[in-house]
Amino acid sequence: MPQPDCLFCKIAAGQIPAKLVHQDDDAVAFVDINPQAPTHLLVIPRKHVATANDLAPEDEALVGKLLRLAAKLAAERGIAESGWRAVLNTNRGAGQTVFHLHLHLLGGRQMSWPPG
Ligand code: 5GP
Ligand code: ZN
Repeated sequence: MPQPDCLFCKIAAGQIPAKLVHQDDDAVAFVDINPQAPTHLLVIPRKHVATANDLAPEDEALVGKLLRLAAKLAAERGIAESGWRAVLNTNRGAGQTVFHLHLHLLGGRQMSWPPG
């Protein structure tokens, strides 16, 4: 069920504009409004799941789909071979600010490790 006050539920429903790069029955991907790399996409489920802590057993296939979609989008953008990073921040201590599950797909520049 969509959450009425959730920004990413609204983007998935088309109620708030975003630069969409992919839409299907289960997932939506769009350009991050504050990009941290030449490619910075957000891959989200249409289903509202607040954090990775809230994933249910029946969400396992959905999470796999999100990761495979990220890999496909990376390939389409020509960064599959040079390298890309999927980031899933969980709760505030890890930097999560929007409480609708999202994978950051980052690439197009050299990444450092460990993350800050
Ligand atoms: P988090 O910090 O929760 O892991 O990531 C949230 C991301 O959502 C941030 O990278 C932020 O720039 C992005 N973001 C926040 N509001 C919007 C918005 O209205 N539109 C888009 N496209 N991205 C947003
Ligand atoms: Zn939501």
